[in-house]
Amino acid sequence: MAMVSEEQVLNALRNVRDPDRDKDIVTLGMISGLVVKGGNIAFAIEVDPARGAALEPLRQAAERAVDALPGVTSVTAMLTAHRPPPGMGARAGGHDHAGHGHAGHGHAKPAPQQRPARTGVPGVRAIVAVASGKGGVGKSTTAVNLALGMAANGLRVGLLDADIYGPSLPRMMGLSGKPETVDGKVLRPLVNHGVKVMSMGFLVAEDTPMIWRGPMVMGAIQQMLRDVAWGELDVLVVDMPPGTGDAQLSLAQNVPLAGAVIVSTPQDIALLDARKGLNMFRRVDVPVLGIVENMSYFCCPNCGHRSDIFSHGGARAEAGKLGIEFLGEVPLDIAIRETSDGGAPIVMSQPDSEHAKVYRTIAAKVWDKAGGGAAVRAAPRIVID
Ligand code: ADP
Repeated sequence: MAMVSEEQVLNALRNVRDPDRDKDIVTLGMISGLVVKGGNIAFAIEVDPARGAALEPLRQAAERAVDALPGVTSVTAMLTAHRPPPGMGARAGGHDHAGHGHAGHGHAKPAPQQRPARTGVPGVRAIVAVASGKGGVGKSTTAVNLALGMAANGLRVGLLDADIYGPSLPRMMGLSGKPETVDGKVLRPLVNHGVKVMSMGFLVAEDTPMIWRGPMVMGAIQQMLRDVAWGELDVLVVDMPPGTGDAQLSLAQNVPLAGAVIVSTPQDIALLDARKGLNMFRRVDVPVLGIVENMSYFCCPNCGHRSDIFSHGGARAEAGKLGIEFLGEVPLDIAIRETSDGGAPIVMSQPDSEHAKVYRTIAAKVWDKAGGGAAVRAAPRIVID
């Protein structure tokens, strides 16, 4: 698959004009926070706050322009109003929606189907999936920082890269090389930053094109789950393949998940992609532990100023409507990208940063909901071979 470059994305965006200023949005300096990961593209378009949501057609035009590039699989463009730095402090707590306690909503859950017997993994107390409705929303970044947050909170953590179409955990965890076998049978996971990791990325060269058919996907994931010497773990975090297709559904059905965390951008929730993820887990009776809003607001790389992304808060509102816990919001910040793409995710490399705290808080909530208690409660349904 052809790699998409930042330059190509910017060139495509040069064809999109700001209707009010009759110049293209790149020349006008409106594009920021561009993130290119394989075929997944995300960026922010900075607009005058007064024009705000009226520029939705512009946002869509920008997405379409990039989407048309060969090799692009998903595009997330977000409108953001970057206010000038003076007096910025006023906004800091402006969207906290104090008093929106969603916990007591008491929504009736749809009647779940009979949960099939899922064989547990010996030694592993709880398995938590991190999922998203589509690619490029920051699912892997969240999975990695969540795992590191749990480790920082004192848990024994494993990380399984089930995103076999685009395994990114080796790079994000700063790991390379091939896992050794124990007794020529099971694979020993690689370890970095205190977390055990297994990924298809260790087993096949990065530039080897892989064509996966449904049953192969599940076979590979089951092997990484069961033929790996995970040892004693409190929690195994599974980075799911993006989307809600058959592979994801069968994974949700066949892996004994204590629960799932859904990662969504504000835009993505508005477009219902995230809701598909929720429904998928509910259908197979896997508890959805909550939603994380990623790229929730924008941190200017130059001045550190925080500005909102339009439809920021969408995930929180959606979570409230669906009676699901809102776990937290993570900004679009180049520091998050640089650290995870550089193999030293922010939770371990900048543990005192605001972002690291947010991830640790989310990690604590997730463990609380999926942890010892839940695993024990689910025990009678688990059949050991
Ligand atoms: P997914 O797993 O959903 O495909 P990734 O986690 O691989 O997405 O993220 C895609 C790209 O976006 C990566 O380059 C990553 O570093 C970047 N990214 C993810 N979350 C953020 C964020 N909050 N701020 C800045 N960049 C981010």
